[in-house]
Parts: sequence; C-alpha cells; structure tokens
Amino acid sequence: MLPSILDVAQLYDLQFNPRSFGKRETLCKCPFCKADSHPGKRKKYYLSLNTEDNVYKCWYCKESGGVIDFEVKLSGKAFSEVKQKYFKKRKKAVHLAYELDPYQLEIIGWKEYKRKSFKGFREKREEVLRDWKHFVRKELTLNYALFMCIAHLEGQPNRQRELLVWFIKICWDSPVPNMYERIQDEFLKPKSDSSEWAMEGTEIGRIAWKACIKTMDFELENLLIHVIYADYFNRENKKAHSRKERATQRFLLDSV
Ligand SMILES: [Zn+2]
Repeated sequence: MLPSILDVAQLYDLQFNPRSFGKRETLCKCPFCKADSHPGKRKKYYLSLNTEDNVYKCWYCKESGGVIDFEVKLSGKAFSEVKQKYFKKRKKAVHLAYELDPYQLEIIGWKEYKRKSFKGFREKREEVLRDWKHFVRKELTLNYALFMCIAHLEGQPNRQRELLVWFIKICWDSPVPNMYERIQDEFLKPKSDSSEWAMEGTEIGRIAWKACIKTMDFELENLLIHVIYADYFNRENKKAHSRKERATQRFLLDSV
C-alpha cells in the first residue's frame, strides 16, 4: 500500500505552513531548491503536497512527482528499495494506529500529536491504539444501552420509530465504523454469545430505563442524559462495591 504523502513529509521533518496542514493542498518549504528558505522568504512555502492525489510539486523549481519518488529524493535511497518497503509481501500488517483517520485521532486526542511529531507518534502507537480501543468500547457500550432503551418502547410505536431514526443518525456520525450494524448484530445474537460491552450496555440500559419510567420522560436528549448518568451510576456502584468487599476482607482478616 502506498504511504500518504503527508506521512512521508513528516517522516523527513519538512517544514509545514501550519495553516494549510492536512488540507487538500498542504504547503511546505521546498527541500529540493530551498528557494523559500532565505530569511526574506519566511512566509513563502513553495512545495505543494496534494494530499488527495498523493503527489507533490514545487512552484519554484518545478520538481514534481508521486509519493514513492518523493521519498526516493528525500531519503537518497534507490527507487527499488523504497518501492519494496511498501510493496514487499505483506507479512507484517500495517499497525492499526496508522489506519485511524484525522477525525478518529482527534476524538481520542492524538491528532495534534501526530501532526507535531510523527516520530513520537510512531513510538507511541501502542498507546494510541489502546486509547482508540477504549473509546470504541465505551461508545459501543453507551450506544448499546441507548438502543436497549429504544427497543423497550414497544408500547409507543411512533416514538420508537422517531428515536430509532435519531439513533441511526448518531451511529452514522460516530467515528466508530459500522456502529449501527455492530449493535444490531449484537442485539440479535443469543444472549450466551453476548460481547462484554453488550452485557455492560444492557446493565446500563436497565438503569436508564428505570429512570425514564420513573419520570415518564422519553425525550431524545433526556434519554441520552439518562444513559450517561446510568453509566456513571453503574461505575460508582462497582467502585463502592469493591471498596466494601475490600473492607469486609480486611475485617475478616482482622478478626481471625
Ligand atoms: Zn523547489
């Protein structure tokens, strides 16, 4: 698979025009002619990276080409060597942290980090992936809880339909891919095959549902608030439970 021209440029520490970074046309100082590196040209950035077509061109020296050619020139390596780096029989899969798009990275707070230090990002990729997995799990859990509440509204078909449309939109807007399908699949599975996030979501959904029943409140936003509150309540409850357990254990140990 071809690397992105932006990643290659970062790998070789090119100097970006911050305002254009990540846009379709990202500008940076041209490392080939260096015509924009004179003190008088501080605001000039002659090298243009087209991040959609993955090509580059310098408006000054006219140096241009594709992403492999770009890395060849920056690294001084042979074309075949660079090409092999990306096209060799893929035994090792690309690390999943690199497959996260800017929106996904932004949600978990790594977008700026990757932008500012690609090398640092590479070193912390395990951490990035862990944060992402944590986020996905949380997102699935809470939305599963929400879905469970909506599924319970059998007595009010109109309201249920309205909430379902809203829920599908939430899923579409989520950075977690195929969230609606995953939740639906999970819902249709036999209970014995449930994922952990679905079990936790069911538990949270149950608490939120009770709150809805108590107040007879099935407004869209409030339902979401009930779910978030239920999640908080659930976590606090677990914490208190383990504190109590520890205290009991201590008591038992002391009394021996
Ligand atoms: Zn140039």
